[in-house]
Amino acid sequence: ATPTALLAASGRGAQLGIFIKSHQALESARAIDTVVLDKTGTLTTGRMTVVDVRPAPGVDRATLLRHAGAVEDASEHVVARAVSDLARRELDELPAVADFTSLAGLGACGVVDGRAVLVGSARMLAECGVTVPDDLDEQRTRWEADGRTTVVVAVDDAVAGVLAVADAVKPSAARAVARLHRLGLRTALLTGDNEATARAVAAEVGIDDVLAEVLPADKAATIQELRERGRTVAMVGDGVNDAPALARADLGLAVVTGTDVALGAADLILVRDDLDVVPSAVSLARATLGTIR
Ligand code: ADP
Ligand code: MG
Repeated sequence: ATPTALLAASGRGAQLGIFIKSHQALESARAIDTVVLDKTGTLTTGRMTVVDVRPAPGVDRATLLRHAGAVEDASEHVVARAVSDLARRELDELPAVADFTSLAGLGACGVVDGRAVLVGSARMLAECGVTVPDDLDEQRTRWEADGRTTVVVAVDDAVAGVLAVADAVKPSAARAVARLHRLGLRTALLTGDNEATARAVAAEVGIDDVLAEVLPADKAATIQELRERGRTVAMVGDGVNDAPALARADLGLAVVTGTDVALGAADLILVRDDLDVVPSAVSLARATLGTIR
């Protein structure tokens, strides 16, 4: 493309809310055949709220929220924020947590009122050797089939309850995915969340493939595997957990609600919180450089 055409593309991109970092970014946007979307905060709003609480038999709701809330109050995770916000709303005060430990992509644990509290995914609890009783596990499975993120709480190795956390899919998501498909691209959802929840969310917006239960440290390797299988991959993320994946992709697209880390790792910066800019970026690249083949 001529310098004039590239300048025009930058101007058009800026109008659409797309900042193009380099000529190479435009070349990559033209070449991609697969678009991987991060779930939390990219496909969804990332504003999570607890929508259901089920204490185990013999455990009262206030005690469950006291233990879970105290641990989650010390965690930075968006799921943790939802849990501690609810606990703070319902209880007068939260106790302190000792020996707090965050387990990336799984949950957190600590000591509250002298008792060992685990808060996290069913996978984390299983890895800690805690078994969820059948009735609570069935409840968890139903919530996950509905696209909820679920949180299991154990106190001294006994399950004290399960919580359902919801996060709305962005209104623009389904339309953007349909446009990507019309451009001939394959779509995938990448998340640390469990498989059933990820499948429900992917189905809701029409995404082709699901890459679930991927720990934060493994997200970049997952992108690398797709590339080794011959895909030319765009990764869309917000930088929370996924900056290395953005950097590893053929094309990294950062939604600007995200972190500075995301901005550094990306090739294209999307300044509108509207997923329509993703297919628009591909269309812009093709219009500027011509379609391959
Ligand atoms: P994502 O890929 O959606 O950004 P993460 O890799 O950060 O997710 O986390 C994966 C999953 O681990 C979450 O969906 C949640 O089930 C669980 N998890 C992580 N941290 C916490 C926490 N502090 N409390 C409860 N669950 C957590
Ligand atoms: Mg995210």
